[in-house]
Amino acid sequence: MSHRRGKVIIIVAPSGAGKSTLVKRLMDELSILRFSVSATTRQPRPGEIHGKEYYFLTLTDFNKKIEEGDFLEWEEFYGGKRYGTLRSDVENQLDKGYFCVLDIEVKGALNVKTIFKEDAVSIFIKPPSLEILRQRLENRGTESPESLKERLERAEMELQYESSFDFCVVNDDLETAYTQVKQILETFINAN
Ligand code: ADP
Ligand code: 5GP
Repeated sequence: MSHRRGKVIIIVAPSGAGKSTLVKRLMDELSILRFSVSATTRQPRPGEIHGKEYYFLTLTDFNKKIEEGDFLEWEEFYGGKRYGTLRSDVENQLDKGYFCVLDIEVKGALNVKTIFKEDAVSIFIKPPSLEILRQRLENRGTESPESLKERLERAEMELQYESSFDFCVVNDDLETAYTQVKQILETFINAN
């Protein structure tokens, strides 16, 4: 059976805004979605599995992939840690007709949108406030004080880019935010 090529869904949020929570649920409910597994040089958090949340690479292996042109985009932040979208991962899913979900930060997201244009939709997930963002990161219990500080500083920068995205959803009440994101994606999927 022939099928149409899939498209790209870019979901961006300052760290702690609730993007993973929303994306996990979307993946469970919309079977046409596939998650693009990025590569990173950061350490896995407890429970994270190589090949599922990320491909956890050494800096040497990451740099080899840069040289070989394996990344659609990559960025360095959070104390020199690198994150990159694997071209082959995305292209394979699109070829199979799946809609490929990218969970990446602002700069990478804007680069991917420039590459895919109308073949991508970009959604910015926004926390109700920086104070609530701080509380969520603290409650998650995954960050050192230093990493928490870096993430909050970066969040302030990222919030300035809100208007560069196709859609913006405030994640205050989780159910409301989820319904809004799902609606945007269903409209995008059905239009294609
Ligand atoms: P991100 O992937 O954007 O870094 P997470 O999905 O890990 O963020 O969410 C950060 C923390 O906030 C998690 O502990 C999560 O359970 C919690 N959280 C997510 N959305 C909400 C919400 N709408 N209200 C309250 N807490 C939330
Ligand atoms: P975390 O360390 O919390 O998993 O992710 C930190 C940030 O890196 C998040 O904003 C996440 O979206 C972003 N990120 C994850 N993968 C990629 C990627 O492949 N490219 C870019 N540019 N950012 C990524």
